[in-house]
Amino acid sequence: MFKLNVLAALAACASIVAGHSQSHHSNSNSNSDLEEFQKTLSTSAKLYFNGSDGFANVTTRWSALEEPTVNVVIVPGTENDVVEIVKYANKKNVPFLTYNGVHGALVSLGKMTHGIGISMSQLSSVEVSGCGTTATIGGGTMSKKVTDDLWAAGKQTVTGTCECVSLLGPALGGGHGWLQGHHGLVADQFVSMNIVLADGTLTTIDSNSDLWWAMKGAGHNFGIVTSLTTKVYDIEYEDWAIETLVFSGEKVEEVYEAANEYILQNGTQSADLINWSYWMNDAESDPTNPVIYFYIIQEGVTAVDSVYTQPFRDIGAISITTENGTYKDLASWVAIAEDSIPCQKLGYANPRFPIYLEEYNIPAQKQAWDIYADAVRGSSAFNNSIFMFEGYSMGGVHAIPADSAAFAFRSENILAAPMINYLPGDKGLDSEAADLGSLLRDVLSEATGREDFRAYINYAYGAETSEQIYGSEEWRQRRLRALKKEYDPYGKFSFYAPIA
Ligand SMILES: Cc1cc2nc3c(=O)[nH]c(=O)nc-3n(C[C@H](O)[C@H](O)[C@H](O)COP(=O)(O)OP(=O)(O)OC[C@H]3O[C@@H](n4cnc5c(N)ncnc54)[C@H](O)[C@@H]3O)c2cc1C
Repeated sequence: MFKLNVLAALAACASIVAGHSQSHHSNSNSNSDLEEFQKTLSTSAKLYFNGSDGFANVTTRWSALEEPTVNVVIVPGTENDVVEIVKYANKKNVPFLTYNGVHGALVSLGKMTHGIGISMSQLSSVEVSGCGTTATIGGGTMSKKVTDDLWAAGKQTVTGTCECVSLLGPALGGGHGWLQGHHGLVADQFVSMNIVLADGTLTTIDSNSDLWWAMKGAGHNFGIVTSLTTKVYDIEYEDWAIETLVFSGEKVEEVYEAANEYILQNGTQSADLINWSYWMNDAESDPTNPVIYFYIIQEGVTAVDSVYTQPFRDIGAISITTENGTYKDLASWVAIAEDSIPCQKLGYANPRFPIYLEEYNIPAQKQAWDIYADAVRGSSAFNNSIFMFEGYSMGGVHAIPADSAAFAFRSENILAAPMINYLPGDKGLDSEAADLGSLLRDVLSEATGREDFRAYINYAYGAETSEQIYGSEEWRQRRLRALKKEYDPYGKFSFYAPIA
């Protein structure tokens, strides 16, 4: 019975999108439509109707704010299934959206109010190719599988750091990862890809295609990537180490002064060094105030060099923990492994308000701390929030020409973003969260002395302008708009960070 209702809803939506009445369209017609369509898919393809067993499993997202709504999710079994689904959706004039690691959280996704979800989980594979210099990776492969499978083959590449995001979700917006200090962004590793375009055409593209530039930073706008061939590297250093220092908020100025001096070093941070920090409540460290978790991570060592750690030890931490292991331990050390809390889908709203920075402005860090601490302490609805400061090594990113990709912010050194966590369902709270996130970003933005801020597309709140996520240079905007017009004239790929 629910299947019939879903089909009716899909058909009703189709007539709305088409802009003309199809009231004669009966449930049984729609049903047989879909059954006919199913015959064009591989036997391994799966369909989940809204309300069926398994639907929640494929649609539940990491952030429960302004989620996309779909009537049915289809899990293609082959890349040709993706072609057929896109053609079917176009024929029926219903919207569609790619579902991969479902960690995409831009509020623009909420503009999808009906249609078909295309869940990529069955296109999951990693195969080392090119005599060990490349790997071909299915369009639905998670970052963890890429890391694990390559590691088993003595290889590694740049992936997103979080184990529960897909490879492609981050990559199409640039993609930050542990190894970027050596090799550049995830997108900088692209060699070629198979992509299903807006009209359902499956094509293979590489650096000879005019679309190539756009796929490296604005790729969510142009198609569904069914497989990617990417550069891989021999594992040079197996060892990694971390030192985690927890500071009280009164140390905020000293901590970030030292970060500028000993870690960032005017944008020349060593390729083997990564520094993240989280501002968050942690009752064990301080029962009444948020604290600063400050991570110093180093490659190729069993203990982080004291040249980096001693200046921070000297500031006086609440606690200091040291760990060592391999590259595969990094995600769990900073709580973004598959089983870590930030990877779970717990029903919270998680809007972020990203801004790239060249260095820490100390008065601004202090001002932001004071606002943030007041807003999240105690029984605040936002008391599970985290203010993230991601100081990856940027050398490999800086080294690649700025005009080589749609990713526009290569000159930056720090990715900062408050993530305001709360239980959804209260519009007043949604506005308060947006105001708080925007205020914190504004404080950091004003201190840069720039007219506008630069935001990482994959952390975007979803209301940023095209200039703020794709760069303010006129030529970038013109080039993106021209490509969008050529490859997606009807805006089929316009729920995630659309090119306006
Ligand atoms: C806990 C956490 C950790 C994160 N860590 C990192 C990180 O280390 N580095 C980083 O750069 N970003 C990181 N991000 C941000 C991440 O890049 C985005 O959240 C991204 O959207 C996640 O992709 P997904 O496939 O998991 O999500 P989805 O919601 O499934 O995908 C997001 C969007 O990507 C597009 N898309 C996905 N797959 C394809 C495909 N095969 N072809 C075409 N389009 C596709 C679709 O438009 C989709 O709406 C993190 C996010 C979270 C929540």
